[in-house]
Amino acid sequence: MNIGPYEFSEFKELAVKFHGYAAPGLLIGGYMTTAAMAALPAGVLFEALVETYNCLPDAVQLLTPCSTGNKRLHVAPYGKTALSLFDKYTGRGIRARVDPGLLGPWPEIRAWIMKEKSKEEQDEALLERQIAEAGTTIIALQPVSVDLSRLNRKSDGPLAVCPRCGESFPTAHGSLCRACTEGAPYSAAS
Ligand SMILES: [Zn+2]
Repeated sequence: MNIGPYEFSEFKELAVKFHGYAAPGLLIGGYMTTAAMAALPAGVLFEALVETYNCLPDAVQLLTPCSTGNKRLHVAPYGKTALSLFDKYTGRGIRARVDPGLLGPWPEIRAWIMKEKSKEEQDEALLERQIAEAGTTIIALQPVSVDLSRLNRKSDGPLAVCPRCGESFPTAHGSLCRACTEGAPYSAAS
């Protein structure tokens, strides 16, 4: 079954170029994105809400115009294999998730999703074959309404130069930049 406009093997090549390797989550995420897109009304300007940082955001970035950089891709760290595509203006859209109840015929996918096997025990070739054969049949779709007020879509607003570090930052953050206020996760090194 195709992933978006791509044959399975083509999508795998794209995945390697973009993500480093054709991760199972990226392949499944490709099918999830394909299924959700197909269920959206034609011509809708949509954004994406992905419920994990693992793999799925890259599937959305490969198959849709939504990216973190253009702020049309939002990530909520729920650790769930689920994503929604929704109308940018109304929030109405489609949520796609892998339904554990549909994994009966696909034990290798189930074992991978539920982390039932160690990496060494997992048969990667079989897993990939099952993902390709299952396609969108393991995905449940559901209409949803996304609360747009909970997404980070605002512009940064006016900027100022931080008196401590001398770098520009949004004045909405306070009198100093957040890195200076909270302590940045980096420090100068030689
Ligand atoms: Zn600063």
